Amino acid sequence: MEHTGTGFGTQVIHSGVTPGKDCRPLSMPIYQTSTFYFDTCEQGGRCFAGEEGGYYYSRMGNPTVQLLEEKIAALEGAEAAVATGSGMGAISSALWSIAGAGKHILADKTLYGCTFALLGHGMTRYGVEVTFIDTSDLKAVEENLRENTCAVYLETPANPTLKIADIQAVARIAHGYDPNIKVVVDNTFATPYLQRPLELGADMVVHSATKFLNGHGDALAGFVCGRRDLMDQVRMFGVKDMTGSVLGAQEAFLVLRGLKTFELRMMRHCENARKLADYLVTDPRVETVYFPGVPTHPGHETAKKQMRCFGPVMSIEIKGGKQAGMDFVDHLRMCRIAVSLGDAETLVQHAASMTHSAYSPEELKAAGIPEGLVRISVGLENAEDIIADVKQALDHVK
Ligand SMILES: *Cc1c(COP(=O)(O)O)cnc(C)c1O
Repeated sequence: MEHTGTGFGTQVIHSGVTPGKDCRPLSMPIYQTSTFYFDTCEQGGRCFAGEEGGYYYSRMGNPTVQLLEEKIAALEGAEAAVATGSGMGAISSALWSIAGAGKHILADKTLYGCTFALLGHGMTRYGVEVTFIDTSDLKAVEENLRENTCAVYLETPANPTLKIADIQAVARIAHGYDPNIKVVVDNTFATPYLQRPLELGADMVVHSATKFLNGHGDALAGFVCGRRDLMDQVRMFGVKDMTGSVLGAQEAFLVLRGLKTFELRMMRHCENARKLADYLVTDPRVETVYFPGVPTHPGHETAKKQMRCFGPVMSIEIKGGKQAGMDFVDHLRMCRIAVSLGDAETLVQHAASMTHSAYSPEELKAAGIPEGLVRISVGLENAEDIIADVKQALDHVK
């Protein structure tokens, strides 16, 4: 029994016993605590030095967050995973662990808008060189590697054009040039249900778990996954020293709950996306459907090779360009106009004015992002209702 003191205020703070091993909740409790206490200074010292297990401060480790990290590592086939407060927290913690002044990052030019801003406008302020290329063009990868290249960074499928890069081929080229180069893949769109980049030769996977992994649109979270020594670096240097982008226990609990239905949700998302794409390719008002499942998509064969199926996200270009695209979005009745993706609701947004507003018109052009591009994150509603809403919105486009 703990010594609880006799004063009222002291008892408010110290009375009661924390449940121990005899209490076995089915769902992981939310360990809502910043710090953890020790029996002695010596024990505290051993815990800090890593000589014995246990927790000491939630920025370095928390039981709720740790269970989630172990699950994500298992799903990605990684030795370890580090949870972060957002996808951008994961990306910045990973990249700051790898790069520094004088180093060079080779990145794809079609990226999540904030990642593009971090690489193009953020890291370059601190002496990191960044070259943007098209990583689906293997020759471009080969030609742009340099002696000081420390990382190759890409998304596949890429946001928002669903461009596909061949992870295995990119990793082979990068590691052939210099085995120390870290190939980092943002696996947010595919998720480990569809694609496991580490098995294809990537060194690190980053995630916005705000999207499909959580799946309920009620939390921000991110992950970095990879070899244990690399993840120790990300935790002890990237998160602890550089970004502090730690995941809270409440959010970890929400993602743990979301994950219980992850596979079922992904199956439904992908089935609905397939049906919507099948309809869209037959509608003469739609100019192009950007979906790896469409046989004319340039990444179709690579996607077939490295993904379980073609995923839950697509983009479309409507005849009539930018104005037609915006008219279409404005006339949707059930689907929501919102950025983000991976939620139960079908979310639709206009890339150039929303998620990719960090790109200048020239940069949009270079990245192959048409001005009228509309991105659709296909939700969990009934496919007939999604298709009916899209159809009636197309009827309204002048
Ligand atoms: C949303 C997203 C991010 C950023 O994640 P946050 O959780 O919003 O910080 C990064 N990459 C991709 C592909 C995304 O869709």
